Amino acid sequence: MPSTFSRRDLRVLFVTPEVYPLSKTGGLGDVSAALPAALRALRVDVRLLIPGYPQVLSGLKYKRKIAKFDTLSQFPPATLLSAKLPVNASTSVPVFIIDCPGLYQREGGPYLDESGQDWPDNGLRFGLLSKIGAILASDDSPLAWHPHIVHCNDWQSGLVPAYLNFHSGEKAASLMTIHNLAFQGIFPPGSVAQLGLPSDSFNMQGVEYYGNISFLKAGLYYCNHISTVSPSYAKEIQSEPLGFGMQGLLLTRRKSISGIINGIDTTEWNPTSDPHIPRTYTSNKQSTKAINKKALQLAMGLDVDPDIPLFGAINRLSHQKGCDILLQVALELIKIPAQLVVLGSGMAELEVELTTLSKTYPTKIAATIGFNEKLSHLIEAGADGFLMPSRFEPCGLNQMYSQRYGTPPVVHATGGLLDTVVDCTPATLADGSASGFLFNDMTADDFLKTIHRAVTAYHNKKIWRRLQKNCMAKDFSWQASAVSYREIYLSLLSSPNIS
Ligand code: ADP
Repeated sequence: MPSTFSRRDLRVLFVTPEVYPLSKTGGLGDVSAALPAALRALRVDVRLLIPGYPQVLSGLKYKRKIAKFDTLSQFPPATLLSAKLPVNASTSVPVFIIDCPGLYQREGGPYLDESGQDWPDNGLRFGLLSKIGAILASDDSPLAWHPHIVHCNDWQSGLVPAYLNFHSGEKAASLMTIHNLAFQGIFPPGSVAQLGLPSDSFNMQGVEYYGNISFLKAGLYYCNHISTVSPSYAKEIQSEPLGFGMQGLLLTRRKSISGIINGIDTTEWNPTSDPHIPRTYTSNKQSTKAINKKALQLAMGLDVDPDIPLFGAINRLSHQKGCDILLQVALELIKIPAQLVVLGSGMAELEVELTTLSKTYPTKIAATIGFNEKLSHLIEAGADGFLMPSRFEPCGLNQMYSQRYGTPPVVHATGGLLDTVVDCTPATLADGSASGFLFNDMTADDFLKTIHRAVTAYHNKKIWRRLQKNCMAKDFSWQASAVSYREIYLSLLSSPNIS
C-alpha cells in the first residue's frame, strides 16, 4: 500500500488468534511468537494483531490506547491498544490488542467455553479480529503505521482478505497461512449481513461454503497467496481426504500455494539451558539425560528403571493425533517391555480410557490429563523415544522438540512429520541422517511394528547414541523458514493491490 518501498522497511501485520505465552492452545501459539521474532531479526517490521482475552490484557504490563472503533457494523465497541510482546531477553515484538470486553473478556479458552463447547458468538469474535485486521491493512486505518502485507493465520483471520476485497481504496496484499485445514470457521448464512459483508459475496465465488459461510474458505478464495506449514501438507490438501472439502479451490489456486516448514523456538526448547528440567544436557553428555529419565519416572509413579525404554506422547487427545491407535497399542507396548507417559487433554472418552489404563498399570503407563508446559519439557527430556501417530499433521512441533532433546520420534509418515523425521535404516544411519522411525499404514499393527523397530535400536547402545546425536545436530531454527516467508512477502509487493 505505501507508495515508497525499500527492502529494509518491509512492514507486515501478522493477524493471529493466539500467541505464546499469552494464549496458546496448540502449535499456532508457538508459531505466532517465534516467526515474527525471526522476521524482525531479518529486519522485517512485523507487528501482531491479537484479541484481548483476559490473560492477554493481564499478561502485558504497559499498554497504550491508540484507536477506538465504535461504529463497525454490528460489532460491539472496541479499543485498540499497543504493547510489546516479550519474546525473549533480546527480542520484543510490537503487538496491537483489540480490547472488546463484550467479546473477549470471559473465563474459558480462546475458542471454547469452560464446558468445551464453541463460544456461540465465535463468528462475531473472530469477525471483529478480521475486520480490524482489514482496516489496519487499508487506507481506512487510523494509525500512521501502514503494512505492505497482511499475514493471516487460520480461519479466525480468514475474513481479512474478504473485507479487503470489498475495500475500494489502497490496501495491503494478503497471505493466508493454513495451520490446520480441519478447522474451517463455519457459520450460518445469516452471519454475512451481521459481519457487514455484501450479500452478493455469499456465493461459490466468494465466502459461501456448501450453504454456510466459511471464514477459511473466504480467506483462501480472496487472498493473494496461500501458504501452509510443510511442503508435504501443501500437496496433501489438494486432494481427498486431507483437502477436507476445500481441495477443489486449493487445486485451482495451486500455483499460489507454498509449503514452508515451521521452525521451533530454539531458546525455549533447548536441552542445554532448559529451566523446566532437573538436569540440562548436551549431545556429548547423554548420561545426564538419564537423570531426567529417572526424574520423569519418579514424578509419574513409574518403575524407576534406567534400562527399560520409556516412550512419551504429548498432544490434543483427538482423532487427528491418532490417540485411538496409541491406546490400542498401549497394552502390547508394556509387554515389550516398555513404559508410556502421556500428557494431553481433549476428547472426553479418550481422557477416560487413558486414565483407566494408567490406573490399571500405574507403574508402566502414566497419564496426565490437562495442559502442562513444564511437564511437556520434562517428557521431551526424560523419555527415550517419542510417539506421534497423527492421522494427518500439517507440520507438528513435538517431533522437532523431541529430536532436539535427543528423543527419537516414532511418527506416521504424513505432512510435516514426513518432512522433518528421517527413518532409521542402515543407509540413513550410514549417511548420518537417521533421526527417528516412520510408519506408513495408519494401523495399530504398523505402529506397533515400528515401535518394536525403535526398541530394537534402543537396545543397541551404539546405534541409539548415533541416532540421538543425529537428532540433536539437526537445525530446526526459524531462520531458513523466516527467509522463505520474507521472499513470499517481497514477491507479493508487485501484486496489483500495492501501489
Ligand atoms: P497442534 O497445533 O495440532 O495441537 P503441534 O504439534 O503443532 O500440534 O503443537 C502442539 C503444541 O502444543 C506443542 O508445543 C505441544 O507441546 C503443545 N501441547 C499440546 N498439548 C499439550 C499439553 N497437554 N500440555 C502441554 N503442551 C501441550
